[in-house]
Amino acid sequence: MSHTQAIAQSNQNKKDQDAPMTSKAENTYTGNRGLSIEEGLIFEQDTPGLTGVDWPEIDLFDNRLGGLVRESIGLPGLSEPEVVRHYTRLSQKNYAIDTGLYPLGSCTMKHNPRLNEKVARLFGDVHPLQPLSTVQGALDVIHQLAHWLTQLTGLPAVAMSPAAGAHGELCGMMAIKAAIEARGEKRPIVLVPESAHGTNPATAAACGFTVQTIPANDRGRVDLAALKSALSGQVAAIMLTNPNTCGLFEPDIIEIAQALHAAGAFFYCDGANFNAIVGKVRPGDLGIDCMHINLHKTFSTPHGGGGPGSGPVVLSEALAPFAPLPYVVRGKDGELRLVEHAEEQLQPIGRLKGFHGQMGMFVRALAYMMSHGADGLRQVAEDAVLNANYILAQLKDDLTLPFEGPCMHEVLFDERFLKGTGVTALDFTKALIDEGFHPMTMYFPLVVNGALLIEPTECEGKASLDLFIGAIKHLVTLAKEGHKDHFAEAPRFTPRRRLDETRAARQHILRWVKKS
Ligand SMILES: *Cc1c(COP(=O)(O)O)cnc(C)c1O
Repeated sequence: MSHTQAIAQSNQNKKDQDAPMTSKAENTYTGNRGLSIEEGLIFEQDTPGLTGVDWPEIDLFDNRLGGLVRESIGLPGLSEPEVVRHYTRLSQKNYAIDTGLYPLGSCTMKHNPRLNEKVARLFGDVHPLQPLSTVQGALDVIHQLAHWLTQLTGLPAVAMSPAAGAHGELCGMMAIKAAIEARGEKRPIVLVPESAHGTNPATAAACGFTVQTIPANDRGRVDLAALKSALSGQVAAIMLTNPNTCGLFEPDIIEIAQALHAAGAFFYCDGANFNAIVGKVRPGDLGIDCMHINLHKTFSTPHGGGGPGSGPVVLSEALAPFAPLPYVVRGKDGELRLVEHAEEQLQPIGRLKGFHGQMGMFVRALAYMMSHGADGLRQVAEDAVLNANYILAQLKDDLTLPFEGPCMHEVLFDERFLKGTGVTALDFTKALIDEGFHPMTMYFPLVVNGALLIEPTECEGKASLDLFIGAIKHLVTLAKEGHKDHFAEAPRFTPRRRLDETRAARQHILRWVKKS
């Protein structure tokens, strides 16, 4: 079959199939919505036998697999242009920080400078099993990044291998548990403030601790009196985020640290939101013993659908001996080596990951730090906080604020402004999609009913923020003027409209199965 014949044949096959995965747009013959093309999965576009490559027949092939020969490995048959179109179209369905404002609170969706990408490509050929003498440069990147992380946080040690924020939490809490056991103590309780990220109580529970919740006060901060009265010889640690997930700085943090230490407990800080304070304050100076840093948030690097995370954990003197393997050290001869087995007086918690961590992320984070410099990193924090407060100031009379006063890198609103309009917070955010914006984080943190958490990051300019603010003001007006339907029908312009999110979250369909 010639190439063109093959395509014609495959298009014919497609018309013959009914495509159950596609819901057709109204009023178009093709089901496409403008230039947004409707199509099924690549497996549904299968024309058996069609391929972009012509393989030579193998004549002299002596099959010694007996009955184990597979007729097919189930790959769909498509021509090269069909494959290219399919994946290009898929990429166009993606909303990304590269296409517009992505104000997802607590997620820090910031621009990834292309310089980082260029530098990361230089390390594309490095293999983790290469002899160390041939990868001194790569080890140097890990070593230098580790150095700057300790400098920025004011803590003496860092474990580089954790592969995400939650993985870093696991690392830190395992180190705390090991330190407590090494003291011959049993402390079964970990305190977690009500406003915590869900990963915090999950990590504590995964490490075998019992989670005790500390309430928030009416200013959205940890209730210091409740915290103090929860302290005892049974408490191993607190897991606290600062700035917290209400976007607020915990002003009692030093007193919290002192109270914990007086009770023999450790202070784990969730540093995923370090972007709000980097270059301004060193967590070690606040009395924090252990903190993970989401390189993929604070120090850019693509994440979410765009790439892996990386969650190095900085550790105090007391926790450093328990850091996981491996780590990079510089020998007396100047050579960098990897410590793969416990050395004297160290009691590593083990290994958390194959090899040395997320090398590509290390390169990007170091490139980000070095290109910003000390003053640039400080400005990152300042601009992130400024942008969030600009949104706060512009929208505080349109939306409702659960907690008064300035915020840090993200601003928390709630749904009370919708009271009496018949529009829910969910409807409201769906209408924002029609305006071309990814919605903010919603219904989190849990301490606030109908939370709407906006994190603009420092990367947005005033024009972009003003457009976003304008869109929100417009929607508030529509809601208050009684245009309920505008919201109930949103989103109208997306390839898919309202999804059954509850069912999608509970009944995963993760595998395509061929209908026989
Ligand atoms: C993002 C985030 C985490 C989890 O980080 P992952 O890399 O997604 O595992 C934990 N805590 C807070 C406050 C976060 O914002």
